[in-house]
Amino acid sequence: MKTPECCSICSKKTEDGIHLLRVYICGDCEKEMLETPADDPKYQFFIDQMNKAHRTAIYS
Ligand SMILES: [Zn+2]
Repeated sequence: MKTPECCSICSKKTEDGIHLLRVYICGDCEKEMLETPADDPKYQFFIDQMNKAHRTAIYS
């Protein structure tokens, strides 16, 4: 049985997410990220959230 984890992007608790590096991302955010072009400002937001979460994962 899987344990629900908090998505690093939207903070939603879900079991259908994936671990990207050491960051947990829910299925919705993963899909949205894949559909967001790299030159979209929203893409940078995803990257920022990922970096933030990644740093927290390392230093906590
Ligand atoms: Zn999410």
